Amino acid sequence: MKIIVTGGAGFIGGNFIHYLLKKYAEYEIICIDKLTYAGNLETLDLMINNPHFNFIRADIADRRLVYKIFEEEKPNIVINFAAESHVDRSIEDPAIFLRTNVVGTQVLLDACRHYGIDRYHQVSTDEVYGDLPIDRPDLFFTEETPIHASSPYSASKACADLLVQAYYRTYGIPVTISRCSNNYGPYHYPEKLIPLMITNVLNDKPLPVYGTGENVRDWLYVEDHCTAIDLIIHRGKVGEIYNIGGHNERTNLEVVQIIIKELGKGEIEYVKDRAGHDRRYAIDSTKIENELGWYPAIEFNDGIKRTIQWYLNNRQWWEKFNSGENKKYYKSLNTL
Ligand code: NAD
Repeated sequence: MKIIVTGGAGFIGGNFIHYLLKKYAEYEIICIDKLTYAGNLETLDLMINNPHFNFIRADIADRRLVYKIFEEEKPNIVINFAAESHVDRSIEDPAIFLRTNVVGTQVLLDACRHYGIDRYHQVSTDEVYGDLPIDRPDLFFTEETPIHASSPYSASKACADLLVQAYYRTYGIPVTISRCSNNYGPYHYPEKLIPLMITNVLNDKPLPVYGTGENVRDWLYVEDHCTAIDLIIHRGKVGEIYNIGGHNERTNLEVVQIIIKELGKGEIEYVKDRAGHDRRYAIDSTKIENELGWYPAIEFNDGIKRTIQWYLNNRQWWEKFNSGENKKYYKSLNTL
């Protein structure tokens, strides 16, 4: 079994490669990653000498290179994690989001069409559904919820999902799509809420919270996302979308307060709210639970402790992000 994992030097793709090589020692994994500001090869340090693993630096929107890789490697499965993933950056400059998230997906799908594939899996997000009102805790996103993206990021992800579905219907490419809620865990780039707050506490910096911190997210430990994708690529039904969620809704403020409590210090600083800030995400993951028997295994209280401990133990991994260009950029934003 040969699997191409795109975006494997990033947060979730990196965790997924660790997971796959541990569980399926006989699989061959090829990681394609452009190594943007969010990619970090150190995330894959433990794999680099594994004879079943190969890293190729490439842009998924570079058709010539992607075709060459498919021609040489002849993968059975492609899992597309590669993306520009930060909402704030998409608000500042949407163009790169369209290139990577939409054109990049199209190039991968074309390569699958050209060279053949057993499965193409698109890693998508619950953000394609837009948001839910805070005062309607009875409402959840199901796979039937219409797409209603709010930010250039979520619009680009929604566009990619539509392309994936179109390639299934028009060309019969065997695809699946997963739409997951917010992830947290090791190797998370410290521009997103949880790692930003942990690293700011550790650096004695204030903890910037958008608006009043009332926005609600459904948090899932990254390993639970990995087990869900594992089930979908092996047993999921071709052409289907699967929602993945943690049954774990928390306001941003609650999450920050938990981190402060765990670390025993931290000063909140309320900052101007994000433009078009989604209010609440909440996933109904009944379909994947019923069809594939998936359930999240890691409780938030346990997951957040493990995550904090990882950032305490791996300072050299995240400190490199707090320099130069990133430092300037951090000043202008926080979170998710
Ligand atoms: P990330 O930003 O940490 O990592 C993205 C990776 O993609 C980086 O290694 C980067 O170098 C690489 N990349 C970017 N552009 C590329 C290109 N043109 N060609 C090749 N590689 C490129 O992102 P993440 O948080 O790990 O998210 C992974 C996927 O999961 C994304 O598709 C995202 O939309 C989706 N998702 C994320 C979350 C979350 O909470 N982080 C939740 C649901 C879905």
